[in-house]
Amino acid sequence: MFGEIEGTGVDILDDRFSECLTGHARVERLWSGARWTEGPVWFAAGRYLLFSDIPNNRLMRWDETDANVSEFRKPSHYCNGNTIDQKGRLISCEHLTRRVTRTEHDGSISVIADMYEGKKLNSPNDVVVKSDGSIWFTDPTYGILSDYEGRKAPSKQKGCYVYRVNSNLDEVTAVATDFVKPNGLAFNSEENILYVSDTGASHRKNGPKHIRKLILDKAGTKVVKSVAFVESPSGLPDGLRVDSQDRVWTSGGDGVYCFTPDGLLIGKIRIPEVVSNLCFGGAKLNRLFITGTTSLYAIYLAVNGKSSKA
Ligand code: MG
Repeated sequence: MFGEIEGTGVDILDDRFSECLTGHARVERLWSGARWTEGPVWFAAGRYLLFSDIPNNRLMRWDETDANVSEFRKPSHYCNGNTIDQKGRLISCEHLTRRVTRTEHDGSISVIADMYEGKKLNSPNDVVVKSDGSIWFTDPTYGILSDYEGRKAPSKQKGCYVYRVNSNLDEVTAVATDFVKPNGLAFNSEENILYVSDTGASHRKNGPKHIRKLILDKAGTKVVKSVAFVESPSGLPDGLRVDSQDRVWTSGGDGVYCFTPDGLLIGKIRIPEVVSNLCFGGAKLNRLFITGTTSLYAIYLAVNGKSSKA
């Protein structure tokens, strides 16, 4: 577990990345045995990480106390992205049921969103909760293109949108409608910028594989401007997170890439499998958990994730 894993390592592309690293931290492979891992989310109180194994229709749990991995939920409705709200409840994007759900403290499941304009969503992919309690998610078609990660079905929507569910959870609004395949998303610390990746290159020749910045209005409810942030240096920028200094950490085909808030690439963590997503965890949020195809990886950093506390 503590030896160097083949194909892993850290590339410092700008001096500013050095301060993100501890002296001797290495990438660890915590577990292997999935078909496609995604959607990691850290539960501080329980000291565990949940992550999806989409094609196997299950949600997994890695336990920090004994490093054991077990099935948390199966079937998981082919859930993909997960996050946690301010009350510690799990929020999940389900491909099969084409909805976003919340797992309550008593274990029951509430539907947060399953329709837009009276029609079924495509297959919600990734989700974040803003400090005002609103829930923002992306809705590309990956879960309805085949039976592998959900169930093949026609889209009922005019496109693949980014949505906001208001804090009362009674209104679903499309906040961005010009993405090909909106995918990972994360707010900056001020919550006036929402970063959203577009992985349209997966199904469209010369399609987008970039991250955009959606600038929000003063109330933080509407998008007033959408601007390019970065092109993916490698593969698709499926999932991303922002750290406490507003650096953006994003997945790529061969690892995790770190950008300054102004879009300069400063470093890379090499992973020997295609990376889908990442999140900060551990009591101090200084451990980066990385889902890479069949495996779960982690590395301790000298930076901390953005606290999810409101
Ligand atoms: Mg995704």
